[in-house]
Amino acid sequence: MGLLDGRNAIIFGLANERSIAWGITQAFHREGATLGISYAGETLERRVRPLAGQVASKWVQECDVTRDDQIAAAAESAEKSFGKIDVLVHSIAFAGREELTGPFYNTSREGFKNALDISVFSFIALAKAFQPLLNPGASLMCLTYYGSVKVAPHYNVMGVAKAALESSTRYLAYDFGPQKIRVNAISAGPIRTLAAAGVGGFRDMYKHFADMSPMRENVTIEDVGNAAVFLASDLSRHITGEVLYVDSGFNTVGVQMNPREETKE
Ligand code: NAP
Repeated sequence: MGLLDGRNAIIFGLANERSIAWGITQAFHREGATLGISYAGETLERRVRPLAGQVASKWVQECDVTRDDQIAAAAESAEKSFGKIDVLVHSIAFAGREELTGPFYNTSREGFKNALDISVFSFIALAKAFQPLLNPGASLMCLTYYGSVKVAPHYNVMGVAKAALESSTRYLAYDFGPQKIRVNAISAGPIRTLAAAGVGGFRDMYKHFADMSPMRENVTIEDVGNAAVFLASDLSRHITGEVLYVDSGFNTVGVQMNPREETKE
């Protein structure tokens, strides 16, 4: 018996086998979900189709979330394939490379709009478009990062976008609550993916994280996938509007000491 047997789950934001969306897709597959996968655009199709084949995805659909017509088309075709949906995962973010290095005050108006449109508004738009398809007990989730609540140098406008995404999660949870539909966010520690490669100083941040987190370990897309199974399943039946940290405890530490200095005493 899988934890997601009999559930239809669709996942937005698969780019390649390093994507967090891939960790989630594999974990859902292991737990028996019937899967649907959406990707951003034609250039990704070549990489996404073979991955979708590995998990017998029933639905593979292009959807550029900046396009209302593509969001509507995705909902329409998902309804034809699945009828109803039980789980929707938003694993999408974008900010121009020039916005992710140097001082935050250099954020451009266009860069701000793009980052918030693609990384935040799209979650609201997908929730609205798929609302008629959602079964009672359904679970929606998105991916966020600690740069929403504390400064992570270079993360800049993405930190602001993630703060808005976490707030949107709470407002959506309030709206969908009466239908017994839950909305949560997973805040993952740094993981080497395509999106992460665009963040200035990511390598250092990744290493610092492993040195400084209580568990002294980076997290993997498999860890995030397992947390997503929890949020997608009845195990989290009355949990909504929350941000679940999958970060080896990094966010719990206020003053970070060099671990080598600590062991000297
Ligand atoms: P990823 O593999 O690059 O996934 C990001 C996805 O967003 C890609 O599939 C990307 O497609 C898609 N996307 C961008 N613009 C889009 C658009 N207009 N329409 C539809 N899709 C679009 O990187 P990832 O790290 O797994 O990111 C997934 C989520 O996890 C993001 O929300 C990210 O902020 C979050 N997160 C990542 C980390 C980390 O350290 N990696 C930590 C915490 C949270 P394209 O490749 O075509 O742009």
